[in-house]
Amino acid sequence: MKVMLLGAPGAGKGTVAKLLTALDGSIQISTGDILRGQVKAGSDLGKQAAAYMKAGDLVPDSLIMDMMGKRLLEGDCQKGFLLDGFPRTIPQAEALKELMGKLDIDLDAVINIDVPRDVILDRLCTRRTCENGDCQEIYNVKSNPTKVEGICDKCGSAVIQRDDETEEAISHRLETFNEKTAPLIGYYEKEGKFVNVPCTSSDAVVDAIKEKLGL
Ligand code: ADP
Repeated sequence: MKVMLLGAPGAGKGTVAKLLTALDGSIQISTGDILRGQVKAGSDLGKQAAAYMKAGDLVPDSLIMDMMGKRLLEGDCQKGFLLDGFPRTIPQAEALKELMGKLDIDLDAVINIDVPRDVILDRLCTRRTCENGDCQEIYNVKSNPTKVEGICDKCGSAVIQRDDETEEAISHRLETFNEKTAPLIGYYEKEGKFVNVPCTSSDAVVDAIKEKLGL
C-alpha cells in the first residue's frame, strides 16, 4: 500500500504505521525517525536539524525535501510505504506532489488520524522512546510500559523521554501543528483520497484503513 498518515504529534501515526507494515510488507518512512538517526550519527543534516527539533520547530522544507527526494528513490519503497510525519507543511505537500508525478507514484489514501487534544497531551507527556536509532520503539509509562523499567523490550537499549517531550516543547509542537500542518487536511480533502478516522485506539485506526483499502 502507499498511504500517507496525517495527524497531530501523539495521534499514533508511528504506531499505526508499524501495525500496517505487518499487513503487506510496506515500509514505514518516518521523517522524525530519519532525522533523529541523523542527529545521533552527527551528519551534516543532523547538525542542521538538531536545534529546530529540540525546540519543537519544524526543520526547513528544503532540508526535508532533499532527504525525502533521496528516500523515495530507494528500492525498498517498491513494496509500498507509509508516510509518517511527512508532509508537514503546504510547500512540502506541493513538492511531494511534483516528486510523485516524476516518479510515477500514486497514493492509495491520505488518512487523517483525528484524536482529541486532551488525549494527545496526556500521551505525549507519558511517551517514552527507545534511544537506539535503528529501533526507536515507542512505549507509554501508563498504557504500554517496558517489561524492565527503562530498558527496551525489543533491543535492550535505554528507553528515554525525547528532548522535545518537555511540557514547553510539546505545547510548541502542538501550536506548530495547528498553524503549519492542520491546513494539509483541507488541501488533501480537495485532492481526493482523503479519509478522516476519528479513533483513539490504533487498532481501530488500522481496521478503518483496512476497510478503506479492501484489505
Ligand atoms: P511527532 O510527530 O511526535 O512530533 P516526529 O518524530 O514526527 O514527532 O518529529 C519530530 C521532529 O522532527 C519535529 O518536531 C520536527 O522538528 C522534525 N520533523 C519531522 N518530520 C518533519 C517534516 N516533515 N518537516 C519538518 N520537520 C519535521
